[in-house]
Amino acid sequence: MRNVEGKVVILTGASSGIGEATAEVLANNGAKVVLAARREERLQELKSSIEKQGGTAVYKATDVTSQEQIEELARYTFDTFGQIDVLINNAGIMPLSFLHEKKVSEWDQMIDVNIKGVLYGIGAVLPYMRERKQGHIIDVSSVTGHIVRKTWAVYSGTKFAVRAITEALRQEEAVNNIRTTIICPGGVATELANTISNEEIKKSIQDSWHIALHPEAIAHSILFAISQPENTAVNEIIVRPTKQE
Ligand code: NDP
Repeated sequence: MRNVEGKVVILTGASSGIGEATAEVLANNGAKVVLAARREERLQELKSSIEKQGGTAVYKATDVTSQEQIEELARYTFDTFGQIDVLINNAGIMPLSFLHEKKVSEWDQMIDVNIKGVLYGIGAVLPYMRERKQGHIIDVSSVTGHIVRKTWAVYSGTKFAVRAITEALRQEEAVNNIRTTIICPGGVATELANTISNEEIKKSIQDSWHIALHPEAIAHSILFAISQPENTAVNEIIVRPTKQE
């Protein structure tokens, strides 16, 4: 597809759900995808599946909470392909809970993955993109980055933060011709609820997923943003299941 073919795209959280679907859709449209997540065997399987379909994929096991590992991911991408066109900060976790449950380690993990991981990713690729005066950073926030409900306090807080960070990035790097996009999905049927340790909340989320979108719906909105001409930045997209209130 126009303006996707040949682009080098780093994808975090590529081992399942939205990241996996996006990697396939982008690779099918001619992008060279660099798959990152912690579960290496899943990345290996995805790479093989993309290659079987004629696409180009490499992978690097990466924990986004480690700044060092993300810097290595950016270096590996540059060394392999000679450029970094797009970073998709998609890795995320959602262990929802009530504040009174005081699940401090879950709060910390969410902040580390959902906020610090995004910042580390931006920090790692910016030098390459600023040098070329071209690039695109896509950060996956959420509908919960716009509205908050009970049990979403910390998760929602991280997703509001992702929107704030991306908007500041947009203003700072417009002069360097770097595009930014915030993706805000509503309910998408993935493994995301698996990290919820409160069984009641987990069940209520999973029960609501009969109306949820397939991850490919989000992959197509990411494809849309990348495929626009270089002077056109699609700054934010909200995609909900039609029946989600
Ligand atoms: P999944 O649970 O299917 O995917 C999450 C991905 O994040 C996995 O690939 C996981 O890989 C990766 N990940 C988690 N922790 C880390 C880490 N420390 N380092 C590297 N990778 C990590 O969920 P989704 O596909 O649904 O989630 C993708 C994004 O979409 C998230 O940011 C989520 O918040 C957002 N989102 C999802 C919605 C939904 O309804 N599903 C709605 C709104 C937003 P691994 O475990 O192998 O490291």
